[in-house]
Amino acid sequence: MQSRRSALWGRSGWGTLLSALVLTMGMLTVLNTMAEDSNVSAERVPKTLLVIVDGIPTDVIERVKTPGLDALTARGTFNHAYVGGQIGEVTESPTISAVGYMSLLTGTWSNKHNVRANYDLTPNYAYWDIFRVAKQQDTPLITGLFSTWTDNRTVLLGDGLVQAGGDKFDFVADGFDKDPAFKSDLDELERIKAIDAEVTRRAAETITQEGPDLSWVYLQHTDDVGHLSGDGPAMDRAVRWIDARVAELWSAVQARQAEHTAEDWLVLVTTDHGRSREDGKHHGGQSLRERTTWIATNARSVEFDPTTPPAIVDIFPSVVTHMNFKIPTYVSRQLEGRSLIHKEGSLDAK
Ligand SMILES: [Zn+2]
Repeated sequence: MQSRRSALWGRSGWGTLLSALVLTMGMLTVLNTMAEDSNVSAERVPKTLLVIVDGIPTDVIERVKTPGLDALTARGTFNHAYVGGQIGEVTESPTISAVGYMSLLTGTWSNKHNVRANYDLTPNYAYWDIFRVAKQQDTPLITGLFSTWTDNRTVLLGDGLVQAGGDKFDFVADGFDKDPAFKSDLDELERIKAIDAEVTRRAAETITQEGPDLSWVYLQHTDDVGHLSGDGPAMDRAVRWIDARVAELWSAVQARQAEHTAEDWLVLVTTDHGRSREDGKHHGGQSLRERTTWIATNARSVEFDPTTPPAIVDIFPSVVTHMNFKIPTYVSRQLEGRSLIHKEGSLDAK
């Protein structure tokens, strides 16, 4: 993944001229492809799968071999991104897990969504999450959530709560942390790893068989290993293991797409925060390594502005674009990000 980016960087002189020519030709190809895509997508049904793999620093995901992510981005994009809002401003947000999920789900920073830690959660449901948007379309969409524990659904997203819109997820696989089937003699690390495997299996099965319009898969193992061992071989192994889960999900989407050719799947994989520079065991602060994240996607029509890296809050408006969602003006005004995806005839969330 490193090489794809560096190929575009650091040229000069004749190299620059040559690069400009190659880029121009490349852009023409991209424009042609996008034109073909937009003709096709007029009749296709957009679907989206969002995946969070917890706490994988950008330098680690780039160093470790990740064939799953490579397959996903083979015709798509991988880019650096950031979490944590703007340092020293009201949007500054702790680089903590639940804070990151909420920024992804609501397209806002913690000053708005009001989640600043992993405990004592009091989300401000005035800032709509993307699943609420999905349920408020003319034809309510089919949604899915796959996660270790239930709080992501019942608290952060307020599943079924009137103040959060009152809608409920259609497909759910969560709460495994309290499931007696996973209270074996495994240690905590292996137990959560087994849960992640089950979460992935259930998500893949649901995607292939049911094809929910909008889903979120959350995988935890990498953060557990990071907190226990920090940077090193154990973390690298955990990243390779979770990359294989990404491969499973991507295979499920491809199998679904092959059977249902009218569907147009967007898959976005990201992480909720980086890790501390010293040893990789901690996170929560505003150091560059904790703030720097990454976004991997199969989407081709993604525009990354090199002067302004994408943020986790750009994912919400990107989904809005891909799904052709209609959103109330007061919701679009609350959004902090901008769509990374450009599709003809779609709403611009900003
Ligand atoms: Zn996390």
